[in-house]
Amino acid sequence: MNQYSSMITILYVEDQDDVRDGYARALKRVAKEIITASDGAIGLILYKKFLPDIIVTDINMPNMNGIDMVSNIKKINPNANIIFTTAHSESRYLLAAISLQVDGYLIKPVQKVSLLVAIEKIAKRVVLEKENKQQKDILQHIIDYDNSISVITNLTDIYFANKSFLNFFDISNILRFKDKYLSIIDIFSVNNHIINKINIEKSIKRGINLYEFICSLDEINRVATLRDKNNHLKSFYINVSKINNTNFLITFTDITQIEKIRAVTTKKAYIDGLTGVFNRNKLEEVFEQKVKESEMYQRPLSMAIVDIDHFKNFNDTYGHLIGDEVLIMLAEAINRNVRKGDFFARWGGEEFVLLFSNTPIQGAMLSSDKIRMIVESLNHRIAGKITASFGVTQLRDNDTIDNIFERADKALYLAKESGRNCIKSIR
Ligand code: GH3
Ligand code: MG
Ligand code: MG
Repeated sequence: MNQYSSMITILYVEDQDDVRDGYARALKRVAKEIITASDGAIGLILYKKFLPDIIVTDINMPNMNGIDMVSNIKKINPNANIIFTTAHSESRYLLAAISLQVDGYLIKPVQKVSLLVAIEKIAKRVVLEKENKQQKDILQHIIDYDNSISVITNLTDIYFANKSFLNFFDISNILRFKDKYLSIIDIFSVNNHIINKINIEKSIKRGINLYEFICSLDEINRVATLRDKNNHLKSFYINVSKINNTNFLITFTDITQIEKIRAVTTKKAYIDGLTGVFNRNKLEEVFEQKVKESEMYQRPLSMAIVDIDHFKNFNDTYGHLIGDEVLIMLAEAINRNVRKGDFFARWGGEEFVLLFSNTPIQGAMLSSDKIRMIVESLNHRIAGKITASFGVTQLRDNDTIDNIFERADKALYLAKESGRNCIKSIR
């Protein structure tokens, strides 16, 4: 029956030596440790020194009485557990005890059994609270130990958050979260990641909650941007796990640096190293996309191959480096002059490609001629004048990318045949 008492420390304060010795012996058998004092003044000193879990004290004692000692102890620890044992059944003592919020008031002579029962009851609460706090501390430690932001949420409110979360949003505790945000959904920024505030709200309207929405995405897409306390956007990889029907654990791992590297790498993969315009990789992706759009919306799509005239002569006469400069000069000039919605890339060597969205072949020829004139107007400081020839064509039904390129190439050949610095087309 004294299962919990054996885990606690008791301070027992009693001025009558024989009474104190008798009860102390009984308490020693059930408690982990028992400290005794013969008056309130000593009791207070021992309390401060040992911080016992329960104080059992007489009221009427020399030096400092039990009521005064307890009120001093309560100033140190308002939750201190107190049992009075007293011969005084007078109401003033009882009222003082009640106002001090003590846990027991036993009239002397106290039955040892009643005292042990009262102690066990308090001990149970003390031990369970300690265990509870310990578990919470361990959980908090684990969750704080990780640099990731972790929250426990019902997908609207946040019940539990780690230090990283509080630091990120600069809030002192989780209750302050409500001052800044109505719901966890509000921490997500609106941007080009799939997980953003607008997409989350859209799926909620369709009956898909935040947890289901994130789970429905491929892992590579579980990325979102959050705005920190300094208004900086940070990228996070998101993990969700369902604890039970109402609680979910969501973790955010900062991948801002990785995202920056990814952006640079992606850019490199799509940009021609020499001229800085889009490369063949990008051209192939964009071409496929534009062909799809053209078929889906029944819009014309045209293209031109641009080939520098007698480019070999530049290399042969002025050297490869000057040849490179000519390529760069021409690419930059064309790039500056492509219409919004059109696309320009280096196909390879001294050949470039223009894609004209939503444009029939006549329009593509007009645009190409403008660009031809821009090229013609260039003047390299050493190599002098540059010209280019254009082969233009339009996407046909059931065309493949190979077909359309073949036609554009044939048109280019016609342009070269006709004396260069001109545009030829094949329907
Ligand atoms: P045409 O008017 O018939 O197009 O004649 P062309 O000399 O321009 O054509 P050709 O295909 O015979 O020669 C293209 C030259 O472009 C050959 C190649 O050495 C050169 N070239 C290809 N890529 C580069 C490059 O990146 N830098 C330099 N400097 N030259 C390049
Ligand atoms: Mg060529
Ligand atoms: Mg050429």
